[in-house]
Amino acid sequence: MSAFALRHDWTREEIRAIHDTPALELVYRAATIHRAHHDPQEVQVCRLISIKTGGCPEDCGYCAQSAHYATGIAAQPLMGKEEVLAIARRAKANGVSRVCMGAAWRNARDDAQFEAVLDMVRSVNALGVEVCCTLGMLTETQARRLEEAGLYAYNHNLDTSREYYGQVTTTRAYDDRLATLANVRKTGVTLCAGGILGLGESVDDRVSLLHTLATLQPHPESVPVNILTRVPGTPLANQDDVSLWETLRVIATARIVMPRSAIRLSAGRTQLSEEAQALCFLAGANSIFSSDAKMMLTQASPTNDYDEDARLLATLGLRPRTPFKAEPGGPASGASLAVATLL
Ligand code: SAM
Ligand code: SF4
Repeated sequence: MSAFALRHDWTREEIRAIHDTPALELVYRAATIHRAHHDPQEVQVCRLISIKTGGCPEDCGYCAQSAHYATGIAAQPLMGKEEVLAIARRAKANGVSRVCMGAAWRNARDDAQFEAVLDMVRSVNALGVEVCCTLGMLTETQARRLEEAGLYAYNHNLDTSREYYGQVTTTRAYDDRLATLANVRKTGVTLCAGGILGLGESVDDRVSLLHTLATLQPHPESVPVNILTRVPGTPLANQDDVSLWETLRVIATARIVMPRSAIRLSAGRTQLSEEAQALCFLAGANSIFSSDAKMMLTQASPTNDYDEDARLLATLGLRPRTPFKAEPGGPASGASLAVATLL
């Protein structure tokens, strides 16, 4: 089998062996695979808008928006469409090709607020950017309605391994998350699903999460790698730092086992130096979140701003990816076959 064939039958042992490869060899392998499947000069810039902040009934141990913890974030009403549109227009003007609307909900409900979100999806889609939502659990019918409204992607992170999940969240089960991913897969909406580093998980947990994602068929089109933003008041406020080398190993392993997916360097990027981010891009990260001020990614995570990101991309000779762009390369392409012999 070509080293570039998409695989969905990875074993944990194979993924662990990739993860544990000597660091520079691992980055080299990931960079080689990245070049076979993606334009290495392109990075997708995304903008997250928290359309409904705080007061969430779930108890995710990392989250500033959970009503279970005193984090100082009060529940706010659903943002109005005009405010969302104004942020989305500024985002597009700054090179953003995907706008992600997040709600601190356990699940979407069949109510007026969901209708309002559908209206936002239609309106933001009309601006000509990819629209993503992250609204908690979804039924198949809700996923279809979002698809009809023009939704491009749905984010629903697994966060960690099945084995460790109960240490992080107790108000829902891992299978609930997988059921929502399956409901979205019944539609034409693409999937964005990843995890968080720094929750106190072991390397085996990271491998297990990557195994779950890499054995989904098809792979999620987008895989966020979040680094925990420690939120005072939450149970995970005192976790240890995640080193760059740990982050790099997870990004590179994700790139190798899910070669066509966008690997999104998400929450926690502000903790990384420009040199560290450059290494992450080399190892296959090709998507970031950016914002028009030092605003909040999850109302707890500071986000890098458009200007500093534009400077960083320019320094590295990278350019923002345009919306709705199919990726070049793939198992059958000439580029893939040429580098397959290197591996
Ligand atoms: N309520 C929805 C859900 O949980 O799917 C959507 C909103 S939630 C804020 C989106 C994602 O942000 C979570 O799945 C989690 O992976 C990430 N996230 C939230 N708080 C974080 C933190 N403090 N550090 C890192 N990632 C975080
Ligand atoms: Fe709620 Fe999502 Fe935060 Fe969990 S991660 S508490 S579901 S907003």
